[in-house]
Amino acid sequence: METVIARPAQALLPVTDCDEVFPVHRIYCVGRNYAAHAVEMGHDPDREAPFFFQKNPDNLVPGDGEFPYPDRSTDVQHEVELVVALQHGGNNIAVGQALACVFGYAVGLDMTRRDLQAEMKRQGRPWEIGKAFEHSAPCSAIAPASSIGHPQQGPITLEKNGELCQAGDLAQMIWKVPEIISELSNYFCLQAGDLIFTGTPAGVGPVSRGDTLTAAVAGVAALSVTVT
Ligand code: MN
Repeated sequence: METVIARPAQALLPVTDCDEVFPVHRIYCVGRNYAAHAVEMGHDPDREAPFFFQKNPDNLVPGDGEFPYPDRSTDVQHEVELVVALQHGGNNIAVGQALACVFGYAVGLDMTRRDLQAEMKRQGRPWEIGKAFEHSAPCSAIAPASSIGHPQQGPITLEKNGELCQAGDLAQMIWKVPEIISELSNYFCLQAGDLIFTGTPAGVGPVSRGDTLTAAVAGVAALSVTVT
């Protein structure tokens, strides 16, 4: 059918060792899913459960690329995260059925305008201007679970200009991947094409123009992004 304006581009991610690409539907994110990061942000992980927010599919920077430093912020920070890509969805997915929904895994950066996020928190307002801005979601190619399995432990790291800033382990996630999918599906109808950024370990910090960010989840993927 003809459209009255040009159709918006479909967001796509590459797939490791594959000529076909992964079409992205929604991007969900988990907040405070590593206890040490919750503590560094001033929260008590024993009293507050993780929670969800969203980014937009066209916020993705697919594969190694550039992150243009955004306007309206002087404190933009990196958050390295394991990303889950779904091949099936649904509502009220049981924890035991959740991994069957997973197509594969990637490593992503939940880039955050921390000053704007903090101001929105202070005012009790939504976080979009701090989280869901242009280029705020660099993400590697997706490694299919059929090749790498379902990683539940192993290093997740971020180096800035070669210096190790974030070093966690997937085993430190408060909500594990099956629990995230199950919990999320109680609130949203998950669909094939959805991505889930599963939260960041401790060590988040500011970026500057000219920085090179190298993110990795061992056995999954690596990503190199230049701040421009
Ligand atoms: Mn995050």
